[in-house]
Amino acid sequence: MDTIPTQPTADWREYYVDPHPGLKSTERIQETCGACSGTGIYTAPTHITDGLGRPFCFACKGTGVHSRLVSSARATARAHAKARAEHANTMRALAARRATFELAHPGLRDQLTEAHLSVRDGNPLRVRIGQLLDRLEEYAGTLEEEEVTEALELLDQLGKETAASRPVPTGRTIIRGEILATKTIDTKWGVTVKILIQGVGWRVWGSRPSEISTARRGDVVELTATISASDDDPSFGFYSRPSKAHVIAAGLRRSA
Ligand SMILES: [Zn+2]
Repeated sequence: MDTIPTQPTADWREYYVDPHPGLKSTERIQETCGACSGTGIYTAPTHITDGLGRPFCFACKGTGVHSRLVSSARATARAHAKARAEHANTMRALAARRATFELAHPGLRDQLTEAHLSVRDGNPLRVRIGQLLDRLEEYAGTLEEEEVTEALELLDQLGKETAASRPVPTGRTIIRGEILATKTIDTKWGVTVKILIQGVGWRVWGSRPSEISTARRGDVVELTATISASDDDPSFGFYSRPSKAHVIAAGLRRSA
């Protein structure tokens, strides 16, 4: 596999700015108290009051400042610089990993994105392709090798499906095919179950007739219905007024 030459590692010194230039490490400086913003007066509900009954900042004992060694202030600035350098290195490593992946699998992300857009809702391929795209986002634009293998298989399968697609029969016709998916829809008239049936090179979508109310994904069913083709996909249709529905073959059921 080709690799991208890695960028030089960020050094914390690139991010460090001496907070007190010119001062010796052993000198002391005064910093504004963060708890009271330098007022010496505490504004939160619980407080200790001074001799005049004013709420008193416990952190700075009412002085509004903290005295600190220059060496201590520099140590804090160094810690911040190190955190920034570490973050920069993490971002560089992620960018390098992403670039290496794209070199090894050119165009895979675009192909998956395009495939996801072209696959109809309800096609099981769509779900898996979507999950792989999500993985690409989460995983710094890369996939594990076995996921790449799966992605290529899904794209291949989709290509075959597209090549095998045929115009859906229209009008009053007998539909015979496997249930690819079911979807329960709540309407104001009650609950309806819609099913996606895979015919030979085409698919149809419609309500599951009551005669086959137990039919599920994987079952092969037959019914008579009126089909109208989708406007944007001639291999996809919507059926209505189903009758004479029955299950021809039960699919493999997963045991509970
Ligand atoms: Zn204070």
